[in-house]
Amino acid sequence: MTDTEVQRLVVTAAKSTPERAWLGEVASVALVQACQDARRAYRNFFDSLSGRRKGQRVGAPRFRSRKGNRQSIRLTRNGFTVTGRGVRLAKIGDVELAWSRGLPSAPSSATVVREADGRYYVSFVVETSATPLPPSTTVAGIDLGLTDLAAIVRSDGTREKIRAPRHLRGAERRLACGQKALARKEKGSKNRGKARRRVAVLHRKVRETRLDQHHKLAHRLVHDNQVIAVEDLAIAGLARTRLAKSVHDAGWSTLVRLLEEKSVRYGQTVVKVDRLFPSTRTCSICGSVGDKKSLSVREWVCPCGAHLDRDYNAGVNIADAAGLAESLNACGADVRLRLAGAVSIEPGTHRTDAA
Ligand SMILES: [Zn+2]
Repeated sequence: MTDTEVQRLVVTAAKSTPERAWLGEVASVALVQACQDARRAYRNFFDSLSGRRKGQRVGAPRFRSRKGNRQSIRLTRNGFTVTGRGVRLAKIGDVELAWSRGLPSAPSSATVVREADGRYYVSFVVETSATPLPPSTTVAGIDLGLTDLAAIVRSDGTREKIRAPRHLRGAERRLACGQKALARKEKGSKNRGKARRRVAVLHRKVRETRLDQHHKLAHRLVHDNQVIAVEDLAIAGLARTRLAKSVHDAGWSTLVRLLEEKSVRYGQTVVKVDRLFPSTRTCSICGSVGDKKSLSVREWVCPCGAHLDRDYNAGVNIADAAGLAESLNACGADVRLRLAGAVSIEPGTHRTDAA
């Protein structure tokens, strides 16, 4: 069956039945987009079943609810027009927007989202050109962790630990109260709707604060360093263990994604290092691979005599694995030990509370 035939069946024909007449209330471009999304989802699902698609298993597409908490429509070029103060949407009309920033070019599509807390957002797809920063010689190796969100070692001999933000843990108690209140409300009642929105607002606040901090940290890292080496984390695997909450809380994957996006925009490079490589157990001074270290071991002495800090040592190893060893070595013989050592040797050790 071709796309056109599918669309005729599930859009045009469906609209004429009384049960599906509501489809006529929304812009047809949004329905066409939904058909295309469904086709891609099914293709991914079948390719995953047959093994043609690599990576994690893709599940069967699920139906979306008209009453779900988060709703969205995607409009292509002829479904919306950007007006001076906002946007004109097909079948909806003029909507005023609180712009978060100006559009650098004409957008190719617009997505309207209604979040669970009842707020509406519009996001546009635009093309931008890269604005390279003046080249620098500093490279950095970053170890992402739970105790500290990131341990950063730089080829200029400085290093820094960024404390993991624990927003979710802090907000958790309030969230638990909200959820309990929600559970007590009668299904379908007005009060239940109100309680649900309150929980959604709490979730949103946590999400936004965390994202803001990640943006700031990624921005700073990209502006300070020409090349950034990070571990390609098995987040999907880690998140299933009992560390799950902390892992999600730390939001590593978001941070790595932001680093990549910003490095493209500013002409810097992010190198992802294979996650199978034992960045913690390897001594960054002599290269010998020691025993597995449990999470509680923060520092140890290698048989070669080096007194190592768990996270900084991993940072140096990650920089090495990314092919940045030369940049580190160029700064003198003692710089490695200064960067990886458990005892801070000046210059430049900081401890920063989340960006
Ligand atoms: Zn050693």
